[in-house]
Amino acid sequence: MTKKYQTHHVKEHKKQQHCPTCNRYIKHNERYPDYVCNKCMDVIADKAGSPVMFYNITNDGHGCQGKYIEDGKLYRSSRCFIKGVKCFAGEAYFGGIVIRPQK
Ligand SMILES: [Zn+2]
Repeated sequence: MTKKYQTHHVKEHKKQQHCPTCNRYIKHNERYPDYVCNKCMDVIADKAGSPVMFYNITNDGHGCQGKYIEDGKLYRSSRCFIKGVKCFAGEAYFGGIVIRPQK
């Protein structure tokens, strides 16, 4: 008995994916198949290990700006590190911030 793999009903299936930096199961996202989970977004750091965070520049969820959590200074890069994995931050398609590993 052979079951045919159905690829045309993919959207009806509940899919999951792994967070690339902690390997936790997270909700599947077709547009961002390698986005970093919320927990890991709390432990973003710069190259030297100082905690940074990213946020939208406008209230309607556009733009991406980083800042240092400790002193609020602007972090002028979209590159960051999560648990030693080089990542980059960007504006998410539906608003908000999405962090993904740098490839
Ligand atoms: Zn994670």
